[in-house]
Amino acid sequence: MTNVKKMQSRAVLGRVEKPSRYTGGEWNQIDKTESFTKLAKAERLHVAFCFPDIYEIGMSNLALQILYQAINARAKMFCERVFMPAVDMREIMQAEDILLESIESGTPLSDFDVLAFSLHYELSYTAVLEMLALAAIPFYAAEREESHPLIIAGGPITCNLEPMADFFDLILLGEGETVLPELLELYSEFKQQAGSRAAFLRAASGLEGIYVPGFYKPFYSENSFAGLSILEPSAPSVVKRRLEPNLDDIIYPVKPLVPSLEVVHDRAVLELFRGCSRGCRFCQAGYIYRPVRERSVPTLLEYTEKLLAATGSDELGLLSLSTSDYSKRNELMTALIEKTADCHVNLSLPSLRLDSFDFSLMEQVSGTRKAGLTFAPEAGTQRLRNVVNKNITEEDLLEACNIAFNGGWSNIKLYFMLGLPTETEEDVRGIADLCWKVLQVWSDIPHENRPRKPKITASISFFIPKPWTPFQWVEQITPVQMKERVQLLTELLRDRRISLQWHDYESSRIEGVLARGDRRLAPVIEKAWQKGSFLDAWHEYFSAERWDQALQECGLNSHDYTRERDTKTVLPWDHMDIRVSKRFLLKELELALEEKTTSSCMDLCSYCGLQKDQCGICLQWQRKPLSNSADKTIFTDPSAVENYITEPDDKKSFSENNKKAAETFKLRLFYERCGAPVYLAHLDMMRLFERALSRAHWPLAWSEQAYNPRPLMVFALPVGCGIETRYEPFELELTEKIDLNTALTTLNFNLPPGLSVRHAEYIDFNRRKSIMSLVEAADYEFIGSGVGSAYKKVFTGDPVIFLRTRKGKSREIDLAAQILQTKNVSEDKVRVISVAGSQDNMRPDNFLQSLQDRGTLTQESVSNIQVIRHAVFLSEECF
Ligand code: SF4
Ligand code: SF4
Repeated sequence: MTNVKKMQSRAVLGRVEKPSRYTGGEWNQIDKTESFTKLAKAERLHVAFCFPDIYEIGMSNLALQILYQAINARAKMFCERVFMPAVDMREIMQAEDILLESIESGTPLSDFDVLAFSLHYELSYTAVLEMLALAAIPFYAAEREESHPLIIAGGPITCNLEPMADFFDLILLGEGETVLPELLELYSEFKQQAGSRAAFLRAASGLEGIYVPGFYKPFYSENSFAGLSILEPSAPSVVKRRLEPNLDDIIYPVKPLVPSLEVVHDRAVLELFRGCSRGCRFCQAGYIYRPVRERSVPTLLEYTEKLLAATGSDELGLLSLSTSDYSKRNELMTALIEKTADCHVNLSLPSLRLDSFDFSLMEQVSGTRKAGLTFAPEAGTQRLRNVVNKNITEEDLLEACNIAFNGGWSNIKLYFMLGLPTETEEDVRGIADLCWKVLQVWSDIPHENRPRKPKITASISFFIPKPWTPFQWVEQITPVQMKERVQLLTELLRDRRISLQWHDYESSRIEGVLARGDRRLAPVIEKAWQKGSFLDAWHEYFSAERWDQALQECGLNSHDYTRERDTKTVLPWDHMDIRVSKRFLLKELELALEEKTTSSCMDLCSYCGLQKDQCGICLQWQRKPLSNSADKTIFTDPSAVENYITEPDDKKSFSENNKKAAETFKLRLFYERCGAPVYLAHLDMMRLFERALSRAHWPLAWSEQAYNPRPLMVFALPVGCGIETRYEPFELELTEKIDLNTALTTLNFNLPPGLSVRHAEYIDFNRRKSIMSLVEAADYEFIGSGVGSAYKKVFTGDPVIFLRTRKGKSREIDLAAQILQTKNVSEDKVRVISVAGSQDNMRPDNFLQSLQDRGTLTQESVSNIQVIRHAVFLSEECF
């Protein structure tokens, strides 16, 4: 592959749907390109954090934020981001031999020292291969040379990464914020001493949490995995998971990257604790993150101040596996509500258990937003809930729904799993019964107390047995069985107030194959990729046929992996030590089959294996038994956290700003944009400005709408993606008059590179209508090979008719009539004043298209043209 073009070139970005996925330049981005190149090559370590999914998914990931900060905190290391390109970009890259490159510096992947893949779901495996292919890097570790980057993997699914083991030089097991920098320091030493990769891998395998797959060779017997031989004498026979015992002591990304583009989870994130005390037997996360380790309340409040100041976000997500189980939830929530009151920051609680949450707090947190509540009963009958150790009862659910309906919520989503071990038809029918009972709860509420119609959604996923759970030995049901059970539910739930959603049968099957897979699946994954699989986590790109053909060509079938396993057989992940003992998992399986439950770690320790590590909740059991699970103190010593982040200049508390006020002051501002922000869509620009203004502590006035209040800010004329601006007007309202000189300096300091506000002035508030209705004209300049000559050929004084299609309707417009004045024109430049505004508006893309349609420019040269909007003229002004 020859690198003829860069992903970040104008000619490429101009042809994709969301170019800002690739341009970077976000707030809090770390770009060490300049300082880094001053270091000797041997001294510096260049790391690419690779996420095998598109930007919007990867940027929602907390691991990215943590490791980006942890690695970049080291002076001689530079960590950049690389995401899987979206389909439109991928097509261009393949057609034009463009290599995959990093966001911050545009460096091709093959030029990095280390590629660190973060793996969170099995269906991302083919995306890893696709990214390596786009980077022209050999897939298999054994085929790579010393000159290739070291390729490593981390993330929750490394607890069994055997299907991908042959592709990686090294795998991190467990939490990465300490071990990854340690590992990179070690690699850096080897690099400086020109040590061999083999010698480095030998040294690395001595670190806790590091697995070097090449040091182990699997063997099989009767078509089953039978064990591993150790090829390297110094390699450990069992690789132990890395565990961070005290979360208050480790780095937290209080200055996270703030995506300019809207992403899946678009909010500042506060991680309260890791691990879950509940022990649901199907839940891998519940076992591999044990034990519960909480951050202290003072630490969390300190992070909150810093996060909101550093991001300007209007939402703070309280993240954990089961957020409402945080032991000091009342103390924390009261403090957070107080801190965020009146400053337009919503608290979001994504993972609640219905038996441990205080609805009065929920009421305060949600305010007037009653969009929906989600509960996870998981199974339809108490018997099956006992089997899976979901220790909630039907009464818990119905009582929670009763309070929710009475409190004004009308949308309730219920998560269930089909195919759980021992499931019978009665259990499936139980799901329908439960939905009807929830609906009955709503019907029993007096009419005047339920203003809206109810919407009950039963969301069905299919149980997939996962390694490191008590169900790791059980059989997974087939797609035919899945379909039959869904059909039964469909018949039982015919009511427009209840909707049923379910996952894809076939992708659940393939996920099951990969989850409990062994190294024989590496060629299967490669073949599936060769046949066209590259983004399997996306339903529209998944094909079961490709996977089945790949399995067949390798002499395998999915049942080899989805079948029941004997509890005495060796499992492909037995050489890992996740710290939960196999004996405990077996005991839990026995209890499940006896329909007996196990207590939560909060109520009783079951000695799962973690007691040896003496940290988190396990410590409580060494000191004293807990009598009451609510409001226990788990950590009492909030040790100071190293401050990696500089304090904002303005130390004014976040909550002191942005208050509502009766009187407001109106401002008109003019901004310039160039560089990466040029590729932002209008709505993303607005969000970016909102956050920057918030970070700069401007006293914004907010709209009064109850549902979704927003700062009172209006842009004169939305600017299209790809257009630079020089003096673009917008207006906003403030609750108090501020000194504009100082405020502008602060605001510009809080805007990402490429954006700046050049001027601001107070305007007469009572004067008139919205600024949008004042727009009359705009000043555009087009710069690019031959554009001026083309303009002269086409715009000769006669009409230039263009067929504009919008929302399926076409109409002819005369572009010549829309051009009011030609300011200057030369061979490669043209500058015009055109009509603009809501009545009539000349669009620069229509203008360029008209030149291309008449054969005066090629598509390629059009995509290379720089478009600048120098000014927007308002009716009160003249030009
Ligand atoms: S409550 Fe159950 S399902 Fe939820 S994270 Fe904990 S163990 Fe997993
Ligand atoms: S050792 Fe006890 S308290 Fe600790 S995680 Fe295991 S069961 Fe829970």
